[in-house]
Amino acid sequence: MKYISTRDAQARPVGFTDILLGGLAPDGGLYLPQEYPQIDAATLEAWRTVLAEEGYAALAARVIGLFIDDIPQADLAAMTARAYSTPKFATEAIVPVTDLEDGIKLAHLSDGPTAAFKDMAMQLLGELFEYVLAHRGESINILGATSGDTGSSAEYAMRGRDGIRVFMLTPAGRMSPFQQAQMFGLDDPNIFNIALDGVFDDCQDVVKAVSGDADFKAEYRIGAVNSINWARLMAQIVYYVSSWLRAAEPAAASAADQAQSAGAEAPAGQPQRVSFCVPTGNFGDVCAGHIARQMGLPIDRLIVATNENDVLDEFFRTGAYRVRGAAETQATSSPSMDISKASNFERFVFDLLGRDAARCADLFGAHVPAGGFDLADDPAFAQVGTDYGFASGASTHADRLATIKSCWFSAGVLIDPHTADGVKVARDFRAQHPDAAPIVCLETALPVKFADTIREAIGTQPPADTVPERFRDVLNAPRHVTDLPDDVDTVKNFIRQAID
Ligand SMILES: *Cc1c(COP(=O)(O)O)cnc(C)c1O
Repeated sequence: MKYISTRDAQARPVGFTDILLGGLAPDGGLYLPQEYPQIDAATLEAWRTVLAEEGYAALAARVIGLFIDDIPQADLAAMTARAYSTPKFATEAIVPVTDLEDGIKLAHLSDGPTAAFKDMAMQLLGELFEYVLAHRGESINILGATSGDTGSSAEYAMRGRDGIRVFMLTPAGRMSPFQQAQMFGLDDPNIFNIALDGVFDDCQDVVKAVSGDADFKAEYRIGAVNSINWARLMAQIVYYVSSWLRAAEPAAASAADQAQSAGAEAPAGQPQRVSFCVPTGNFGDVCAGHIARQMGLPIDRLIVATNENDVLDEFFRTGAYRVRGAAETQATSSPSMDISKASNFERFVFDLLGRDAARCADLFGAHVPAGGFDLADDPAFAQVGTDYGFASGASTHADRLATIKSCWFSAGVLIDPHTADGVKVARDFRAQHPDAAPIVCLETALPVKFADTIREAIGTQPPADTVPERFRDVLNAPRHVTDLPDDVDTVKNFIRQAID
Protein backbone atom coordinates (compact mmCIF):
# COMPACT_ATOMS: atom_id res chain seq x y z
CA MET A 1 0.00 0.00 0.00
CA LYS A 2 1.44 3.34 -1.07
CA TYR A 3 0.25 6.86 -0.26
CA ILE A 4 -0.31 9.89 -2.48
CA SER A 5 -0.99 13.55 -1.78
CA THR A 6 -4.34 15.23 -2.47
CA ARG A 7 -2.45 18.04 -4.25
CA ASP A 8 0.09 16.31 -6.47
CA ALA A 9 -0.82 13.23 -8.47
CA GLN A 10 2.64 13.06 -10.07
CA ALA A 11 4.78 12.80 -6.92
CA ARG A 12 6.24 9.37 -6.18
CA PRO A 13 3.92 7.42 -3.85
CA VAL A 14 5.41 6.75 -0.41
CA GLY A 15 5.08 3.99 2.18
CA PHE A 16 3.16 4.04 5.47
CA THR A 17 6.18 4.38 7.74
CA ASP A 18 7.44 7.30 5.63
CA ILE A 19 4.30 9.36 6.28
CA LEU A 20 3.62 8.23 9.87
CA LEU A 21 5.72 10.81 11.71
CA GLY A 22 5.12 13.78 9.41
CA GLY A 23 2.09 15.95 8.85
CA LEU A 24 1.27 17.51 5.50
CA ALA A 25 2.73 16.27 2.22
CA PRO A 26 5.57 18.50 0.91
CA ASP A 27 3.09 20.14 -1.51
CA GLY A 28 0.75 21.10 1.36
CA GLY A 29 -1.75 18.32 0.60
CA LEU A 30 -2.96 15.44 2.76
CA TYR A 31 -1.95 11.81 2.32
CA LEU A 32 -4.41 9.14 1.20
CA PRO A 33 -3.95 5.54 0.08
CA GLN A 34 -3.33 5.22 -3.66
CA GLU A 35 -6.48 3.10 -3.70
CA TYR A 36 -8.83 1.88 -1.00
CA PRO A 37 -8.60 -1.85 -0.20
CA GLN A 38 -11.92 -3.58 -0.87
CA ILE A 39 -13.77 -5.77 1.61
CA ASP A 40 -16.53 -8.15 0.53
CA ALA A 41 -19.34 -9.94 2.34
CA ALA A 42 -17.21 -13.03 2.96
CA THR A 43 -14.46 -10.94 4.57
CA LEU A 44 -17.02 -9.21 6.77
CA GLU A 45 -18.43 -12.52 7.96
CA ALA A 46 -14.89 -13.77 8.68
CA TRP A 47 -14.23 -10.57 10.64
CA ARG A 48 -17.44 -11.12 12.58
CA THR A 49 -15.86 -14.31 13.92
CA VAL A 50 -12.56 -12.52 14.62
CA LEU A 51 -14.38 -9.83 16.63
CA ALA A 52 -16.48 -12.36 18.54
CA GLU A 53 -13.70 -14.85 19.29
CA GLU A 54 -10.48 -12.79 19.41
CA GLY A 55 -11.79 -9.30 20.14
CA TYR A 56 -11.48 -5.71 18.96
CA ALA A 57 -7.64 -5.64 18.95
CA ALA A 58 -7.47 -8.65 16.61
CA LEU A 59 -10.01 -7.06 14.27
CA ALA A 60 -7.99 -3.83 14.35
CA ALA A 61 -4.85 -5.72 13.25
CA ARG A 62 -6.76 -7.17 10.26
CA VAL A 63 -8.20 -3.83 9.19
CA ILE A 64 -5.02 -1.74 9.53
CA GLY A 65 -3.02 -4.58 7.97
CA LEU A 66 -4.80 -3.70 4.70
CA PHE A 67 -3.16 -0.25 4.80
CA ILE A 68 0.35 -1.11 6.04
CA ASP A 69 2.78 -3.32 4.17
CA ASP A 70 6.02 -2.08 5.66
CA ILE A 71 5.46 -3.41 9.22
CA PRO A 72 5.14 -7.20 9.77
CA GLN A 73 1.58 -8.33 10.54
CA ALA A 74 2.65 -9.99 13.81
CA ASP A 75 4.12 -6.70 15.04
CA LEU A 76 0.91 -4.87 14.12
CA ALA A 77 -1.10 -7.45 16.06
CA ALA A 78 1.14 -6.98 19.11
CA MET A 79 0.66 -3.21 18.89
CA THR A 80 -3.13 -3.33 18.57
CA ALA A 81 -3.26 -5.81 21.46
CA ARG A 82 -1.45 -3.33 23.70
CA ALA A 83 -3.37 -0.28 22.44
CA TYR A 84 -6.87 -1.75 22.74
CA SER A 85 -6.80 -3.50 26.08
CA THR A 86 -8.30 -3.29 29.54
CA PRO A 87 -7.87 -1.52 31.91
CA LYS A 88 -6.81 1.23 29.44
CA PHE A 89 -10.33 0.89 28.09
CA ALA A 90 -13.19 0.36 30.49
CA THR A 91 -14.75 -2.66 28.74
CA GLU A 92 -13.54 -5.86 27.07
CA ALA A 93 -15.61 -4.87 24.03
CA ILE A 94 -13.47 -1.68 23.71
CA VAL A 95 -16.28 -0.11 21.61
CA PRO A 96 -19.63 -1.47 22.86
CA VAL A 97 -22.77 -0.70 20.86
CA THR A 98 -25.98 -0.20 22.85
CA ASP A 99 -29.60 0.62 21.99
CA LEU A 100 -30.72 4.19 22.68
CA GLU A 101 -34.23 4.17 21.24
CA ASP A 102 -36.14 2.78 18.29
CA GLY A 103 -33.80 2.81 15.28
CA ILE A 104 -30.97 4.63 17.06
CA LYS A 105 -27.95 3.01 18.70
CA LEU A 106 -24.87 4.42 20.42
CA ALA A 107 -21.30 3.28 19.69
CA HIS A 108 -19.24 4.05 22.80
CA LEU A 109 -15.93 5.50 21.66
CA SER A 110 -15.00 7.26 24.89
CA ASP A 111 -14.20 4.43 27.28
CA GLY A 112 -10.46 5.08 26.90
CA PRO A 113 -7.97 6.78 29.26
CA THR A 114 -9.17 10.39 28.70
CA ALA A 115 -12.88 9.74 28.12
CA ALA A 116 -12.89 11.13 24.57
CA PHE A 117 -12.99 9.31 21.25
CA LYS A 118 -9.57 10.69 20.31
CA ASP A 119 -8.09 7.92 22.47
CA MET A 120 -9.20 5.41 19.82
CA ALA A 121 -6.61 6.82 17.41
CA MET A 122 -4.00 8.16 19.84
CA GLN A 123 -3.50 4.89 21.70
CA LEU A 124 -2.50 3.20 18.44
CA LEU A 125 -0.46 6.20 17.34
CA GLY A 126 1.62 5.92 20.54
CA GLU A 127 2.45 2.30 19.70
CA LEU A 128 3.25 3.06 16.06
CA PHE A 129 5.44 6.07 16.87
CA GLU A 130 7.48 4.19 19.47
CA TYR A 131 7.92 1.20 17.13
CA VAL A 132 9.01 3.14 14.06
CA LEU A 133 11.30 5.49 16.03
CA ALA A 134 13.02 2.51 17.68
CA HIS A 135 13.57 0.81 14.30
CA ARG A 136 15.09 3.99 12.92
CA GLY A 137 17.13 4.82 16.00
CA GLU A 138 15.41 8.21 16.12
CA SER A 139 13.52 10.26 18.67
CA ILE A 140 10.84 12.95 18.46
CA ASN A 141 9.70 15.91 20.53
CA ILE A 142 6.01 16.43 19.97
CA LEU A 143 4.94 20.05 20.29
CA GLY A 144 1.26 20.91 20.37
CA ALA A 145 -1.37 23.36 21.54
CA THR A 146 -4.65 22.20 23.01
CA SER A 147 -7.81 23.65 24.41
CA GLY A 148 -8.96 20.28 25.67
CA ASP A 149 -9.40 16.76 24.33
CA THR A 150 -6.53 16.35 21.85
CA GLY A 151 -3.72 17.34 24.21
CA SER A 152 -4.70 15.07 27.05
CA SER A 153 -5.38 12.18 24.69
CA ALA A 154 -1.90 12.62 23.14
CA GLU A 155 -0.22 12.81 26.56
CA TYR A 156 -1.91 9.67 27.84
CA ALA A 157 -0.92 7.85 24.64
CA MET A 158 2.73 8.96 24.72
CA ARG A 159 3.51 8.88 28.46
CA GLY A 160 6.42 6.65 29.41
CA ARG A 161 7.38 5.86 25.80
CA ASP A 162 11.00 5.61 24.67
CA GLY A 163 12.21 8.20 22.19
CA ILE A 164 9.18 10.48 22.64
CA ARG A 165 8.67 13.68 24.63
CA VAL A 166 5.51 15.77 24.60
CA PHE A 167 5.42 19.55 25.09
CA MET A 168 1.81 20.68 25.32
CA LEU A 169 0.80 24.34 25.49
CA THR A 170 -2.51 25.20 27.13
CA PRO A 171 -4.12 28.59 27.66
CA ALA A 172 -3.62 29.31 31.38
CA GLY A 173 -6.84 29.00 33.36
CA ARG A 174 -9.05 28.48 30.33
CA MET A 175 -9.66 24.76 30.24
CA SER A 176 -12.40 23.06 32.22
CA PRO A 177 -11.35 21.96 35.73
CA PHE A 178 -11.64 18.32 34.66
CA GLN A 179 -9.49 18.81 31.58
CA GLN A 180 -6.80 20.68 33.53
CA ALA A 181 -6.75 18.10 36.26
CA GLN A 182 -6.51 15.28 33.75
CA MET A 183 -3.50 16.73 31.94
CA PHE A 184 -1.67 18.32 34.83
CA GLY A 185 -2.16 15.24 36.98
CA LEU A 186 0.28 13.30 34.80
CA ASP A 187 3.66 12.79 36.47
CA ASP A 188 5.83 11.34 33.70
CA PRO A 189 9.37 12.52 32.92
CA ASN A 190 8.61 12.68 29.16
CA ILE A 191 5.45 14.84 29.48
CA PHE A 192 5.77 18.64 29.79
CA ASN A 193 2.64 20.68 30.46
CA ILE A 194 3.05 24.38 29.77
CA ALA A 195 0.36 26.87 30.83
CA LEU A 196 0.87 29.87 28.59
CA ASP A 197 -0.27 33.30 29.67
CA GLY A 198 -2.68 33.73 26.75
CA VAL A 199 -5.66 32.27 24.89
CA PHE A 200 -5.72 29.16 22.68
CA ASP A 201 -4.84 31.14 19.53
CA ASP A 202 -1.71 32.47 21.30
CA CYS A 203 -0.69 28.89 22.09
CA GLN A 204 -1.18 27.93 18.46
CA ASP A 205 0.84 30.93 17.29
CA VAL A 206 3.74 29.93 19.53
CA VAL A 207 3.62 26.36 18.16
CA LYS A 208 3.65 27.73 14.61
CA ALA A 209 6.55 30.05 15.33
CA VAL A 210 8.64 27.32 16.96
CA SER A 211 7.92 24.75 14.21
CA GLY A 212 8.44 27.43 11.58
CA ASP A 213 12.05 27.91 12.73
CA ALA A 214 13.58 25.25 10.44
CA ASP A 215 16.92 25.11 12.25
CA PHE A 216 15.36 24.74 15.68
CA LYS A 217 12.90 22.19 14.33
CA ALA A 218 15.66 20.02 12.85
CA GLU A 219 18.06 20.34 15.79
CA TYR A 220 15.40 19.51 18.38
CA ARG A 221 13.47 17.02 16.21
CA ILE A 222 10.14 18.81 16.66
CA GLY A 223 7.07 16.87 15.48
CA ALA A 224 3.28 16.93 15.84
CA VAL A 225 0.28 14.62 16.26
CA ASN A 226 -2.40 16.75 14.62
CA SER A 227 -5.73 15.70 13.26
CA ILE A 228 -4.57 15.41 9.64
CA ASN A 229 -2.20 12.55 10.52
CA TRP A 230 -3.15 9.60 8.28
CA ALA A 231 -2.58 6.97 10.96
CA ARG A 232 -5.19 8.61 13.19
CA LEU A 233 -7.80 8.33 10.43
CA MET A 234 -6.80 4.77 9.68
CA ALA A 235 -7.24 3.73 13.32
CA GLN A 236 -10.74 5.22 13.25
CA ILE A 237 -11.85 3.04 10.32
CA VAL A 238 -11.70 0.04 12.66
CA TYR A 239 -14.60 1.13 14.85
CA TYR A 240 -16.86 1.67 11.85
CA VAL A 241 -16.22 -1.98 10.99
CA SER A 242 -16.70 -3.23 14.56
CA SER A 243 -19.82 -1.10 15.07
CA TRP A 244 -21.30 -2.30 11.77
CA LEU A 245 -20.62 -5.89 12.86
CA ARG A 246 -22.28 -5.24 16.22
CA ALA A 247 -25.28 -3.39 14.78
CA ALA A 248 -26.03 -5.45 11.65
CA GLU A 249 -27.52 -8.92 11.59
CA PRO A 250 -25.29 -11.77 10.37
CA ALA A 251 -25.88 -12.30 6.62
CA ALA A 252 -27.62 -15.68 6.88
CA ALA A 253 -29.83 -14.78 9.83
CA SER A 254 -30.93 -11.52 8.30
CA ALA A 255 -31.67 -12.67 4.76
CA ALA A 256 -35.23 -13.66 5.62
CA ASP A 257 -36.40 -10.53 7.37
CA GLN A 258 -34.37 -7.97 5.50
CA ALA A 259 -37.18 -6.75 3.34
CA GLN A 260 -39.03 -5.48 6.40
CA SER A 261 -36.15 -4.38 8.61
CA ALA A 262 -33.99 -2.40 6.24
CA GLY A 263 -36.43 -1.21 3.63
CA ALA A 264 -36.10 -1.57 -0.11
CA GLU A 265 -32.44 -0.60 -0.06
CA ALA A 266 -31.22 -4.00 1.14
CA PRO A 267 -32.17 -6.76 -1.32
CA ALA A 268 -32.51 -10.20 0.30
CA GLY A 269 -29.13 -11.90 0.73
CA GLN A 270 -27.21 -8.65 0.83
CA PRO A 271 -25.63 -7.57 4.12
CA GLN A 272 -27.83 -5.26 6.16
CA ARG A 273 -27.02 -1.58 5.79
CA VAL A 274 -26.47 0.67 8.78
CA SER A 275 -26.10 4.46 8.91
CA PHE A 276 -23.74 6.45 11.11
CA CYS A 277 -24.37 9.88 12.60
CA VAL A 278 -21.12 11.63 13.52
CA PRO A 279 -20.55 14.78 15.65
CA THR A 280 -18.11 16.64 13.42
CA GLY A 281 -15.42 19.26 13.85
CA ASN A 282 -12.34 18.78 11.70
CA PHE A 283 -14.01 16.05 9.61
CA GLY A 284 -11.57 13.40 10.89
CA ASP A 285 -14.05 11.02 12.48
CA VAL A 286 -16.57 11.08 9.63
CA CYS A 287 -13.79 10.96 7.00
CA ALA A 288 -12.85 7.55 8.42
CA GLY A 289 -16.50 6.57 7.84
CA HIS A 290 -16.29 7.78 4.26
CA ILE A 291 -13.22 5.60 3.67
CA ALA A 292 -14.90 2.60 5.33
CA ARG A 293 -17.86 3.08 2.98
CA GLN A 294 -15.56 3.35 -0.04
CA MET A 295 -13.95 0.07 1.06
CA GLY A 296 -17.34 -1.61 0.73
CA LEU A 297 -18.58 -1.62 4.34
CA PRO A 298 -22.40 -1.66 3.96
CA ILE A 299 -22.98 1.87 5.27
CA ASP A 300 -26.24 3.45 4.12
CA ARG A 301 -25.89 7.13 5.10
CA LEU A 302 -23.10 9.12 6.75
CA ILE A 303 -24.85 11.89 8.65
CA VAL A 304 -22.65 14.86 9.55
CA ALA A 305 -23.76 16.65 12.74
CA THR A 306 -22.41 20.11 13.51
CA ASN A 307 -23.14 22.63 16.24
CA GLU A 308 -23.72 26.35 15.59
CA ASN A 309 -20.39 26.39 13.73
CA ASP A 310 -22.10 24.83 10.74
CA VAL A 311 -19.59 25.30 7.92
CA LEU A 312 -19.89 21.60 7.02
CA ASP A 313 -23.68 21.41 7.32
CA GLU A 314 -23.82 24.38 4.96
CA PHE A 315 -21.59 22.59 2.45
CA PHE A 316 -23.64 19.39 2.47
CA ARG A 317 -26.88 21.37 2.11
CA THR A 318 -25.77 23.91 -0.51
CA GLY A 319 -22.39 23.00 -2.02
CA ALA A 320 -20.80 26.17 -0.66
CA TYR A 321 -17.73 25.69 1.53
CA ARG A 322 -17.45 29.05 3.25
CA VAL A 323 -14.72 29.06 5.88
CA ARG A 324 -15.23 31.36 8.82
CA GLY A 325 -13.00 33.93 10.47
CA ALA A 326 -12.24 33.98 14.18
CA ALA A 327 -14.98 36.57 14.76
CA GLU A 328 -17.57 34.31 13.10
CA THR A 329 -16.55 31.21 15.06
CA GLN A 330 -18.70 30.78 18.16
CA ALA A 331 -17.60 29.35 21.50
CA THR A 332 -20.30 26.73 22.15
CA SER A 333 -21.15 24.11 24.75
CA SER A 334 -19.76 21.42 22.40
CA PRO A 335 -16.35 23.09 22.22
CA SER A 336 -14.46 20.34 20.40
CA MET A 337 -16.60 21.06 17.34
CA ASP A 338 -15.99 24.81 17.32
CA ILE A 339 -14.12 25.03 14.03
CA SER A 340 -13.86 27.67 11.34
CA LYS A 341 -12.59 25.28 8.69
CA ALA A 342 -12.33 21.50 8.68
CA SER A 343 -8.75 20.31 8.26
CA ASN A 344 -9.61 16.83 6.91
CA PHE A 345 -12.33 17.93 4.48
CA GLU A 346 -9.84 18.11 1.62
CA ARG A 347 -9.57 14.32 1.67
CA PHE A 348 -13.26 13.88 0.90
CA VAL A 349 -13.30 16.58 -1.77
CA PHE A 350 -10.33 14.88 -3.46
CA ASP A 351 -12.40 11.69 -3.80
CA LEU A 352 -15.55 13.60 -4.77
CA LEU A 353 -13.72 15.31 -7.63
CA GLY A 354 -12.51 11.99 -9.02
CA ARG A 355 -9.12 12.44 -7.33
CA ASP A 356 -8.28 15.48 -9.43
CA ALA A 357 -5.16 16.68 -7.55
CA ALA A 358 -4.72 19.82 -9.66
CA ARG A 359 -8.26 20.96 -8.82
CA CYS A 360 -7.80 20.09 -5.17
CA ALA A 361 -4.59 22.14 -5.05
CA ASP A 362 -6.46 25.08 -6.56
CA LEU A 363 -9.50 24.78 -4.24
CA PHE A 364 -7.58 24.25 -0.99
CA GLY A 365 -4.32 26.02 -1.83
CA ALA A 366 -5.82 29.15 -3.39
CA HIS A 367 -9.59 29.42 -2.72
CA VAL A 368 -9.82 28.26 0.91
CA PRO A 369 -7.25 30.83 2.14
CA ALA A 370 -9.34 33.43 0.29
CA GLY A 371 -12.61 32.38 1.96
CA GLY A 372 -13.78 29.13 0.33
CA PHE A 373 -15.41 27.77 -2.81
CA ASP A 374 -18.81 26.74 -4.15
CA LEU A 375 -19.51 23.39 -5.84
CA ALA A 376 -23.28 23.96 -6.19
CA ASP A 377 -23.08 23.96 -9.99
CA ASP A 378 -20.53 21.18 -10.25
CA PRO A 379 -22.01 17.85 -11.39
CA ALA A 380 -19.93 16.14 -8.68
CA PHE A 381 -21.97 17.87 -5.95
CA ALA A 382 -25.09 15.94 -7.04
CA GLN A 383 -23.29 12.72 -5.99
CA VAL A 384 -22.67 13.83 -2.40
CA GLY A 385 -25.94 12.44 -1.07
CA THR A 386 -26.30 9.58 -3.54
CA ASP A 387 -23.02 7.87 -4.44
CA TYR A 388 -21.30 9.10 -1.28
CA GLY A 389 -24.29 8.74 1.08
CA PHE A 390 -23.82 12.01 2.97
CA ALA A 391 -26.55 13.90 4.83
CA SER A 392 -26.14 16.61 7.45
CA GLY A 393 -27.77 18.69 10.14
CA ALA A 394 -26.91 21.24 12.82
CA SER A 395 -27.73 21.63 16.48
CA THR A 396 -27.88 24.53 18.94
CA HIS A 397 -27.22 24.94 22.65
CA ALA A 398 -30.94 24.60 23.35
CA ASP A 399 -31.07 21.42 21.20
CA ARG A 400 -28.15 19.92 23.13
CA LEU A 401 -29.79 20.61 26.48
CA ALA A 402 -33.13 19.19 25.33
CA THR A 403 -31.46 16.10 23.86
CA ILE A 404 -29.34 15.39 26.96
CA LYS A 405 -32.45 15.81 29.09
CA SER A 406 -34.68 13.56 27.02
CA CYS A 407 -32.07 10.77 26.75
CA TRP A 408 -31.54 10.92 30.49
CA PHE A 409 -35.17 11.03 31.58
CA SER A 410 -36.63 8.70 28.94
CA ALA A 411 -33.84 6.16 28.39
CA GLY A 412 -31.70 6.60 31.52
CA VAL A 413 -28.70 7.26 29.28
CA LEU A 414 -26.51 10.28 30.03
CA ILE A 415 -24.71 11.63 26.96
CA ASP A 416 -22.20 14.46 26.61
CA PRO A 417 -22.96 17.67 24.64
CA HIS A 418 -21.06 16.56 21.49
CA THR A 419 -22.82 13.22 21.37
CA ALA A 420 -26.06 15.14 21.93
CA ASP A 421 -25.44 17.12 18.72
CA GLY A 422 -25.25 13.77 16.93
CA VAL A 423 -28.37 12.31 18.55
CA LYS A 424 -30.35 15.47 17.79
CA VAL A 425 -29.43 15.34 14.10
CA ALA A 426 -30.06 11.56 13.94
CA ARG A 427 -33.54 12.03 15.41
CA ASP A 428 -34.32 14.72 12.84
CA PHE A 429 -33.11 12.42 10.05
CA ARG A 430 -35.30 9.56 11.26
CA ALA A 431 -38.30 11.87 11.50
CA GLN A 432 -37.84 12.72 7.81
CA HIS A 433 -36.93 9.15 6.74
CA PRO A 434 -38.93 6.80 8.97
CA ASP A 435 -38.05 3.71 6.90
CA ALA A 436 -34.32 4.38 6.83
CA ALA A 437 -31.67 1.92 7.99
CA PRO A 438 -30.81 1.87 11.72
CA ILE A 439 -28.53 4.76 12.75
CA VAL A 440 -25.49 4.28 14.95
CA CYS A 441 -24.62 7.56 16.70
CA LEU A 442 -20.96 7.84 17.59
CA GLU A 443 -20.45 8.87 21.21
CA THR A 444 -17.40 11.14 21.30
CA ALA A 445 -16.89 11.98 25.00
CA LEU A 446 -18.20 11.07 28.45
CA PRO A 447 -20.53 13.55 30.20
CA VAL A 448 -18.20 13.88 33.22
CA LYS A 449 -15.90 16.02 31.06
CA PHE A 450 -18.63 18.64 30.60
CA ALA A 451 -20.30 18.69 33.98
CA ASP A 452 -21.51 22.31 33.74
CA THR A 453 -23.59 21.68 30.62
CA ILE A 454 -24.93 18.46 32.12
CA ARG A 455 -26.06 20.38 35.20
CA GLU A 456 -27.76 22.92 32.97
CA ALA A 457 -29.58 20.13 31.14
CA ILE A 458 -30.69 17.78 33.93
CA GLY A 459 -30.42 19.99 37.00
CA THR A 460 -27.66 18.01 38.74
CA GLN A 461 -24.00 17.11 38.26
CA PRO A 462 -23.38 13.84 36.37
CA PRO A 463 -24.64 11.26 38.91
CA ALA A 464 -21.87 9.17 40.51
CA ASP A 465 -22.80 6.00 38.64
CA THR A 466 -22.21 7.76 35.30
CA VAL A 467 -18.66 8.74 36.35
CA PRO A 468 -16.15 5.91 35.87
CA GLU A 469 -14.21 4.96 38.99
CA ARG A 470 -10.89 6.11 37.53
CA PHE A 471 -12.07 9.71 37.19
CA ARG A 472 -13.54 10.15 40.67
CA ASP A 473 -10.37 11.52 42.26
CA VAL A 474 -9.03 13.32 39.23
CA LEU A 475 -9.66 16.79 40.65
CA ASN A 476 -7.59 16.06 43.76
CA ALA A 477 -4.37 14.88 42.07
CA PRO A 478 -1.19 17.00 42.44
CA ARG A 479 -0.48 19.27 39.43
CA HIS A 480 2.57 19.14 37.15
CA VAL A 481 2.65 22.23 34.97
CA THR A 482 5.03 25.09 34.18
CA ASP A 483 3.68 28.62 33.79
CA LEU A 484 5.35 30.51 30.95
CA PRO A 485 4.78 33.96 29.42
CA ASP A 486 3.38 34.22 25.88
CA ASP A 487 6.84 34.42 24.35
CA VAL A 488 8.40 32.23 21.64
CA ASP A 489 11.99 32.44 22.88
CA THR A 490 11.05 31.51 26.42
CA VAL A 491 9.22 28.42 25.12
CA LYS A 492 12.21 27.49 22.94
CA ASN A 493 14.52 27.80 25.93
CA PHE A 494 12.25 25.62 28.00
CA ILE A 495 12.34 22.92 25.31
CA ARG A 496 16.15 23.19 24.97
CA GLN A 497 16.68 22.80 28.69
CA ALA A 498 14.32 19.86 28.94
CA ILE A 499 16.08 17.99 26.13
CA ASP A 500 19.75 18.80 26.80
C1 LIG B 1 -12.46 16.05 18.36
C2 LIG B 1 -13.85 15.89 18.83
C3 LIG B 1 -14.94 15.95 17.93
C4 LIG B 1 -14.79 16.26 16.46
O1 LIG B 1 -14.10 15.24 15.77
P1 LIG B 1 -13.49 15.53 14.31
O2 LIG B 1 -12.70 14.31 13.98
O3 LIG B 1 -12.60 16.75 14.47
O4 LIG B 1 -14.61 15.77 13.37
C5 LIG B 1 -16.21 15.74 18.45
N1 LIG B 1 -16.42 15.51 19.77
C6 LIG B 1 -15.38 15.44 20.66
C7 LIG B 1 -15.69 15.19 22.09
C8 LIG B 1 -14.08 15.62 20.23
O5 LIG B 1 -13.07 15.56 21.11
